[in-house]
Order: sequence, then structure tokens, then C-alpha cells
Amino acid sequence: MKNITEIKEYAKEYSVPIIMDDSIDFICNYIREYNVQTVLELGTGIGYSAIRFANVRDDIFVSTIEIDIERYQQAVRNINDNQLMSRITIYLGNALSYTFKEKFDLIFIDAAKSQYINFFEKYKNNLAENGAIISDNLFFHGMVDNPNSTQNYSTIKLIRKIRKYITFLKENKEFETIFYSIGDGISVSTLLP
Ligand code: SAM
Repeated sequence: MKNITEIKEYAKEYSVPIIMDDSIDFICNYIREYNVQTVLELGTGIGYSAIRFANVRDDIFVSTIEIDIERYQQAVRNINDNQLMSRITIYLGNALSYTFKEKFDLIFIDAAKSQYINFFEKYKNNLAENGAIISDNLFFHGMVDNPNSTQNYSTIKLIRKIRKYITFLKENKEFETIFYSIGDGISVSTLLP
């Protein structure tokens, strides 16, 4: 049996990426404040954030998708251990090729950073009318503002993609985006009237 604290400790010990404390608190508050009932999460990891979302209230339903089979299996175990299988549905697959028919009050983008524009463009059609798309890791550990802090070519490429995503959000004609200096950088995008 792994409770939420044990899942977090496990993630730390085994270097499994999970959302930062300030960021998850921010999103849980958003869920509370805007009475969010349905969440779609791209990037389950081992289920930590999905469990936190579902724990906000017992009328919240989370759909979450993970590409990595080992993480998926671990997430299934963690969600089972927390008796949340009836409210959290986990899918195994690539979020870029999956199709969800439903609309969601909140879409949380937390999968491959290089694909954020593609995720946004694909999943904006799954957003309920007054919903929001929240994206995490826009600072990418402070490197987005300090691109010279790394010489690693794939990291530099990733930083460029995140910067491109930020510009995409700023220039978007359909959505208004507010950026928050919380955790590793969060954005909240809502449809313009
Ligand atoms: N949201 C999780 C949490 O805070 O507990 C952490 C997710 S972790 C930062 C990102 C996850 O996205 C990884 O487990 C990775 O395998 C998954 N991922 C990356 N690309 C993906 C894709 N195209 N489709 C689905 N999952 C993907």
C-alpha cells in the first residue's frame, strides 16, 4: 500500500519526475475555485498528480495517459492502492496519437516538453467551454531564461521548443494565457470570448 507521501518519497528516491509542490497546490486550488469536475492529464508518470487531483473532492474524474509501460503499471498499482480506480482512468499510449471524445474542464499538459504545441493544438478540441489548459515546466529548471546554462545539444533544442511554445501561447488568437512563476513555471490558457 503506497499513500501519497510514500509515492512522493519513491519518486524522489528513484528520480521519477513528478510535479513540484507549489505547482500541484496551485492546480488543486484552481480545481477547487473553478469547481472543475473532469480532468485530462497528458503524462501520468506514476500517478502522483492524478491522485492529488482526485483527492480534491470526491466528484472529480480524471483521465490520464502515459506512454511508458513501467510507469503506467506503477500508476495503476498506486491508484488501486488509493482506491481511486473508479474515478481515475489510466490509458497506456502516446497522447499524440490517442483520441478522446469527451470534453474536459481542465487539461493538464505534463508530457514530452518538445511536443507541447502539438499537444495543445490536438487537445484544445477536448476543452469544455469554460475550461482551462494548464501547462507545467515552462521554466525547465531555470534554463529557459538562461539558455547558456547548458552545452548539451538536446537540452538546448528542448529549451528552444519550450520558448517557441511560450511564444505560441502569447500570440495565440483563440486563447488568453496567464503565466505564473510557480514551481517550474505554469501557464493557464482559457478560450477568449
Ligand atoms: N504528471 C506526473 C506527476 O506530476 O505525477 C508526472 C509526469 S512526468 C513529468 C511526464 C510523463 O509523461 C513521463 O512519465 C513520460 O513517460 C510521459 N510522456 C512523455 N511523452 C508522452 C506522450 N507522448 N504520451 C503520453 N505520455 C508521455
